[in-house]
Amino acid sequence: MKTCDLLVVGGGIVGLTLAREWLIRNPGSRVVVLEKEANSVAHGTGRNSGVVHSGIYYAENSLRAKLCVDGSQQMIDYAIEKKLWIDRCGKLLVPPTENALESIDLLVNRGKINGVEIRKLGRDEALELEPRVNMELEQALYVPSTSVVNPKEVAESVYNDVIASQGTVLYETKALSINAKYGIVQTRRGAFEAGLIVNAAGLFADQVAKDAGLETRYSFQPFKGKYWRHRDPGFQMRRLVYPVPDLNLPFLGVHSAHNARGDVFFGPSSTPVIGRENYRGFQGIEWRDGLRLSLSLAWKLIRNTNGLRTLAMREARLLSLKGVCDEVSRLVRGVRSTDLEPSFAKVGIRSQIFDPKAQRLVNDFVLVEDGRVVHILNAISPAFTASFAFAKHIIDQHGK
Ligand SMILES: Cc1cc2nc3c(=O)[nH]c(=O)nc-3n(C[C@H](O)[C@H](O)[C@H](O)COP(=O)(O)OP(=O)(O)OC[C@H]3O[C@@H](n4cnc5c(N)ncnc54)[C@H](O)[C@@H]3O)c2cc1C
Repeated sequence: MKTCDLLVVGGGIVGLTLAREWLIRNPGSRVVVLEKEANSVAHGTGRNSGVVHSGIYYAENSLRAKLCVDGSQQMIDYAIEKKLWIDRCGKLLVPPTENALESIDLLVNRGKINGVEIRKLGRDEALELEPRVNMELEQALYVPSTSVVNPKEVAESVYNDVIASQGTVLYETKALSINAKYGIVQTRRGAFEAGLIVNAAGLFADQVAKDAGLETRYSFQPFKGKYWRHRDPGFQMRRLVYPVPDLNLPFLGVHSAHNARGDVFFGPSSTPVIGRENYRGFQGIEWRDGLRLSLSLAWKLIRNTNGLRTLAMREARLLSLKGVCDEVSRLVRGVRSTDLEPSFAKVGIRSQIFDPKAQRLVNDFVLVEDGRVVHILNAISPAFTASFAFAKHIIDQHGK
């Protein structure tokens, strides 16, 4: 049996930043990351908008608020230090409907409480920042600190840091089972014994936890996020443009996103799905898990639990390009449905858990310690932004 000080299950950004932070604090210690795929970007880490969120959305005192605000600055500092691509473009939020006007003051207050700079803007100021923004309702919010990075480039850099500090990342190595009491993980490359095991398995974190003997009341509810690309390379945007979200629904809504090449995308959708890695067609649906997810989803839709039927109806509008264009046009002017094409490469699935007791999707990161294992059960957005702070938090709380 091989032994190590820290073993991480899952080599996405959360697992990699954790391994990196541990090695910074404990040089020369033995750290192993197990990743079932051939690289670190096959799932959430390589399939997100790359937005470094500021932390305005999250409730006061939540772990998401704290780790997003701290992590955002750390992600920006890291990208600058390593000379990675970063666009410190800021973000405009516009109300897509009159109902959303009510949320403007609430967001300004949350921003202030969470220590994030956020400003109300009128028509002219907003148009000066981003000439394409739709200012039909005359009001907008501006968050200067929001930035965009290339998540794949960040993950590659953090991987290189881990390797340079003598950490080990074993790709194509799935954790098959965990004995939480004795800290033993079985893989097809043999068994590992570790002082601390962290389950950072993203879309499979709840299953890995269950297989390790953890009993929780939570169930899993994946949501697919599709994007649409603007076909015209000349169509560029200076700022991110988001809707002022409906804070009763769990997702931020379709927004603009851009990359280093200047390609502009709109998305992501938030469609409930029945496969954890169901990026296309019926791919990634495991029949037993799929059946369980289907039954539980049908029940939630019938009862409109946590507004999920309302969300599903809103999502149905995105089935046609005209529907997508209508949604986008509430935020950005001058986009026609013929300008948009679905982006099959850029599709992500959220690692979302559901609390049957509260009858709600869980709205915060959830950490559960059991024996020698710490399980990260709800690494939803903004876990990418938060990852450097997340790593520090886990080691401070659980690293002896
Ligand atoms: C559409 C979309 C857009 C998003 N946009 C943003 C954004 O703009 N900004 C932001 O901050 N966040 C965003 N997020 C959230 C962000 O992508 C995730 O929070 C983040 O990627 C979580 O990282 P992770 O390392 O936990 O997950 P992952 O990257 O999914 O890593 C988990 C890894 O565990 C591996 N694994 C699973 N089971 C096992 C096993 N048994 N053994 C070994 N390995 C295993 C998987 O293969 C996977 O690589 C978005 C998410 C989605 C879906």
